[in-house]
Amino acid sequence: MTPAGTPRFEAGRGWAGRGEAGDASDFEAQDGVGAPDALQRLWTPHRMAYIKGESKPEQGAAPGQCPFCRIVGMDDANGLVIARGVTVYAVLNLYPYNPGHLMVVPYRHVADYPDLNAQETTELATFTQRAMLATRRAAAPHGFNIGINQGSVAGAGIAAHLHQHVVPRWGGDANFMPVVGGTKVLPQLLAETRTLLVDAWTELS
Ligand SMILES: [Zn+2]
Repeated sequence: MTPAGTPRFEAGRGWAGRGEAGDASDFEAQDGVGAPDALQRLWTPHRMAYIKGESKPEQGAAPGQCPFCRIVGMDDANGLVIARGVTVYAVLNLYPYNPGHLMVVPYRHVADYPDLNAQETTELATFTQRAMLATRRAAAPHGFNIGINQGSVAGAGIAAHLHQHVVPRWGGDANFMPVVGGTKVLPQLLAETRTLLVDAWTELS
């Protein structure tokens, strides 16, 4: 029996019970970190506490109003930054679909992937590889979902500033997550996750 208000899977429709499936307005991003992607098949009720009451990001916002631009000026702990490169940085997603869900983001306020220059393109790829290696070292995931949601229609929460998602996956993680979400406060979980990944990332060097 599914508790009232609990997301449930409906054949042919995807997850329901937390707004219409595929409705991007349910997945707004909060200032400072994060933009969810379209991986709505994962059951992550812990996200609801953070979705409620948060400010809606301004789509097409100028760099001054862009969360991904503002993170650059924050200290690593507050911004959930894992590593900073020359042209890109790695940051934990504030609304993770799984523990360790991070993003690789160019410093430059660029919306379209083809607009990245050669150095940004290379470092985005390099950081994505390092993110996988660090995550494997820290948490031994069984697989990953990696990619860019290009444009709001594709699920980008902050479409004006592109970001590559790196989502670790474990067998049965859709069942595992509610347990984690229900037993720990997410900010604490995120801080601990960040520390683990920073340590693992440093050990790669
Ligand atoms: Zn930006």
